[in-house]
Amino acid sequence: MPNTKAFAAPAAKAPLAPFSFDRRAPGDHDVAIGIRFCGICHTDIHQTRDEWGEGMYPMVPGHEIAGVVTAVGPKVKKFKVGDHVGVGCFVDSCRTCTECKKGEEQYCSVGTVFTYASKDKEGRPTYGGYSDKIVVDENYVLRIPDNLPLDGAAPLMCAGITLFSPLKHWGAGPGRKVGIIGLGGLGHMGVKIAHAMGAEVTVFSQSLKKQEDGKRLGADHFYATSDPETFEKLKGQFDLIVNTVPAANNWDQFVNLLATDGSLVMVGVPDDAVPLNGFPLIAKRRSVAGSMIGGIAETQEMLDFCGKHNIASDIEVVPVQKVNEAFERVVRGDVRYRFVIDCATLE
Ligand code: NAP
Ligand code: ZN
Ligand code: ZN
Repeated sequence: MPNTKAFAAPAAKAPLAPFSFDRRAPGDHDVAIGIRFCGICHTDIHQTRDEWGEGMYPMVPGHEIAGVVTAVGPKVKKFKVGDHVGVGCFVDSCRTCTECKKGEEQYCSVGTVFTYASKDKEGRPTYGGYSDKIVVDENYVLRIPDNLPLDGAAPLMCAGITLFSPLKHWGAGPGRKVGIIGLGGLGHMGVKIAHAMGAEVTVFSQSLKKQEDGKRLGADHFYATSDPETFEKLKGQFDLIVNTVPAANNWDQFVNLLATDGSLVMVGVPDDAVPLNGFPLIAKRRSVAGSMIGGIAETQEMLDFCGKHNIASDIEVVPVQKVNEAFERVVRGDVRYRFVIDCATLE
């Protein structure tokens, strides 16, 4: 009997529809989680629409999972029934390569097992959080601080860590000027976290429509990328700019806003190759880099940081039956700032 209710894309580009399947019974080291909420990340849209290729269908998306422990295997040490927990973008990795040993399982050189559209170590497809339960090895489960609401905490599992990790790696903090390009799901978490780290935060948005929100979220400055004056006025100022835009944008324009030794870091996935001029990099020892989510230890550090600073995502909760509409609204930029599915509506 299939034991898990879900919504899945039956084929590439097809609308999501009800789907059921079996989760494994919890093994010795497994935690069984009743999923309460799951965030809708732009990646779920790229993936279900097969914009990156190699999609696996039926696909149950969802990697911003928040829920409650319902059972634990006999050897589980870190969690007990009733704990508030999260699952992010991956559920396993080789555990022995250099990256895994450093706690950077997201860069596992053997192969990270992603939460969906991936294969587990037994070769079974993984299914994500647009579902009512999940079973995950305790080493890949995160603890959600008790003061954070489960719905607002769900997006921390991807959007939160995807910004926390580069902000920390490239030294966001007091005395540092940080720019965030795109005020969406990832971007709004970047503003909150960079502000809490003590950096001076600037938002680069396509227009000034979200300016008031940006300031409320913690931005010190807000500029429209549609205004050429932005790129004149801010030349050479930033230590770090994180680009969350899910499309190809003008990287050269932002490189010119970096100070000497500044870094432009991609987290948004462009839909096309982007031209980049060498000279502005060479002339000021600037870097262009990328970053993907974060490891388990760093994700837990991010959750504890967010607990301490009372940071959760700004969300709109939707029933799972509205997921296709929510996808359309994300693509149109009509969400402030993350849709979260109420997984109780799968009943
Ligand atoms: P989102 O909620 O749709 O936000 C993206 C924001 O980018 C929009 O709110 C908009 O902000 C801006 N934008 C959208 N289209 C644009 C365009 N054509 N040109 C310029 N700006 C545009 O998406 P998200 O969930 O934050 O995800 C963003 C990207 O990050 C996706 O590509 C996703 O796959 C990727 N991602 C990467 C990682 C990682 O580990 N690296 C993790 C999660 C997601 P304004 O209205 O303010 O301009
Ligand atoms: Zn994501
Ligand atoms: Zn590994």
